[in-house]
Amino acid sequence: MMLLLQTDENATWLAPYAYTIVLLGFAFFLFRVFENWYANQYNRPLYRHYFVYKRLSETQLRILEEEFTFYNKLSSKHKRQFQHRMVTFLNEKKFVGRDQLIVTERMKVLVTAMGCMLSFGRKNYGYSLINYILLYPGEFYSTMNDAYHKGEFNPRERALVLSWSDFENGYKITDDNLNLGIHEFMHAMQLESLKSRDLDSSRFGKQFQKILQQLTQQEVKDKLDETRYFRAYAFTNQYEFMAVLTEYFIESPGDFKMHFPKLYQHTRQLLNFNFAGY
Ligand SMILES: [Zn+2]
Repeated sequence: MMLLLQTDENATWLAPYAYTIVLLGFAFFLFRVFENWYANQYNRPLYRHYFVYKRLSETQLRILEEEFTFYNKLSSKHKRQFQHRMVTFLNEKKFVGRDQLIVTERMKVLVTAMGCMLSFGRKNYGYSLINYILLYPGEFYSTMNDAYHKGEFNPRERALVLSWSDFENGYKITDDNLNLGIHEFMHAMQLESLKSRDLDSSRFGKQFQKILQQLTQQEVKDKLDETRYFRAYAFTNQYEFMAVLTEYFIESPGDFKMHFPKLYQHTRQLLNFNFAGY
């Protein structure tokens, strides 16, 4: 006990360091407050990156450049960010093939690119609710509701589950407003926005409320009925609506904007999607 007290008395030289640490902590806290205020005020994150240094392997990069149009439309600065994000995703998520499917590098690159595209406007691109990507060759039997599925996000198993053939059709056919990858990643992102408190989740919640408000407007309702623009499945519930809306946003932004400019604007702000002509 004596010994401890003595150490305390002799440790006064530490005080300036302790003050510095407290001050730094306070400055960091203030910065975080400012960052949140900014995101809320301007509907976008103050910054999306600090360090960008991870690079895809040559094989991975070649697949991306040959098959993923979005990447080729990005500026060189954004390309570096995109690669960094993809490498992070590939390191953090485990890909598992089901029903004898052998997971190839190409599958990993394309699924990862799809997830990173959807989250590219966000600061938080980690998809914290996903640990596993399960790939089936085609439709699979789901125990979630005892039916065959093309894809699902299973939060209990922390798994994004995809039929590879449907995923591939989703991104290869670029103008049919069907994109399985985008659909399922959006489910994961939306659930995360309900569970997390980071600034992207708050922005998500805010813009999503605006989207729902749009749906209560009579003129929008009439136009939805009249044009039948969005496929019927969108109106299953609010989560399916958001997932389908995002498929349309990614696949045919021009048409979407023309038919429903306000819904388009809120979706764009929700994703902070200001790249590649969107
Ligand atoms: Zn769905």
